[in-house]
Amino acid sequence: MNVLLLGGGGREHALAWRLSQSPLCSSLFIAPGNAGTVEFGTNLSVSPKDFPALKEIVIQKDISLVICGPEEPLVLGVQDFFAKEEALSHVRFIGPSAEAAQLEGSKAYAKEFMAEFDIPTAGYRSFSAATLAEGLAYLETREPPIVLKADGLAAGKGVVILNDIGEAQAELREMLDGKFGDASSEVVVEDFLDGIEFSVFVLSDGKDFRVLPVAKDYKRIGVGDTGPNTGGMGSVSHPPFVDADMMAKVEQRVIKPTMEGIRKRNLDYKGFIFIGLISVDNEPYVIEYNCRMGDPETQSVMARLDTDLMQLCLEMADGALATATVEMDERQAATVVLVSGGYPGAYEKGKTITGLDEVAGSMVFHAGTKRNEAGEVVTNGGRVLAVTSYGETFEEALEQSYANAKKIQFEGVNYRGDIGFDL
Ligand code: ATP
Repeated sequence: MNVLLLGGGGREHALAWRLSQSPLCSSLFIAPGNAGTVEFGTNLSVSPKDFPALKEIVIQKDISLVICGPEEPLVLGVQDFFAKEEALSHVRFIGPSAEAAQLEGSKAYAKEFMAEFDIPTAGYRSFSAATLAEGLAYLETREPPIVLKADGLAAGKGVVILNDIGEAQAELREMLDGKFGDASSEVVVEDFLDGIEFSVFVLSDGKDFRVLPVAKDYKRIGVGDTGPNTGGMGSVSHPPFVDADMMAKVEQRVIKPTMEGIRKRNLDYKGFIFIGLISVDNEPYVIEYNCRMGDPETQSVMARLDTDLMQLCLEMADGALATATVEMDERQAATVVLVSGGYPGAYEKGKTITGLDEVAGSMVFHAGTKRNEAGEVVTNGGRVLAVTSYGETFEEALEQSYANAKKIQFEGVNYRGDIGFDL
């Protein structure tokens, strides 16, 4: 079967790696892919947001399965487009409908969903410009720190945590006044939860679910989890504090009611659900839903997945997860992300990357890379490469990833030296 994977990050490189290993996958195409994905398939320079162009490829390349990596095309309705087009009715699609993708695309929608299905999450209210006065009064009743979240997608920048109510009020005004454009025309004001975060990845066929390996990611740029947020600087799987007892709570209190909500609301959800959780006094609370896999968690999670990913995708698409099994590699996996100098602020592209051939005993997943006219691999984004390794312990896995990260050079290269430091 021919497969089309949408996206071009490290997540997609890791997915391409696993998909290409399946005997069920005849040809793999990646739109647009990156300098790493060519190892496992054919890159096509088409945007995942250009739906008519995707349709053309699917017909031309005789694609039977489409897997969407990033959230934006899903929120924009790529699944709905595929579902409606007569000429694509034979194509299986992995990713939720635009309505279901609101679980990520609108924080107010997600909070209201959690409230309806009794899923533990921080106390909240949401406000628009019309209810600004109520929002300012509500803030007076809260204890800092207080969390303000732009409702829509804001590339990970739309969440502000403030220690002072007056500052929170000023921020609420600014956000509702268009600080994040349309994304902050509604703002969720949320209580602060103090705990340790982890990510659970669920496969959904709309009725049943299966759980993938658990991961923890490191969002901030600086050592000790300081400085601005990034797309993600590293990940480990399995974080040791997430024990069987915690997973039983997550399954019972979070995953099962989430699936019940999906069924009751009749949401078309055949795809990956990323549940961002926080453990507060050993009790799980949901921070966020994402309607796709995480990056760089996918690199560590795919390393530990010991079941054919294609098979699982077909079971998701065909509503057959009830009889599916997910096997996990018992080893630990750890990922260290190499970024461009200056990221997450301004950075330069086009820096020549050397040392990739010297890497041994780790996998290197590409994100912001491309080949220049001379055929060299050069930087082409903020997050450039992810180095993923196995180990009997995650310390061993991290040691291996760091040993190989050191061999890779490009001007301005930066990575955190303390991934897993807190575990
Ligand atoms: P992402 O970049 O992961 O998609 P996002 O912009 O969708 O993030 P959230 O995941 O909701 O936003 O929040 C970003 C980060 O802010 C969280 O990972 C967490 O560290 C912190 N955060 C969010 N909500 C809370 C909360 N209620 N209490 C404490 N910290 C929080």
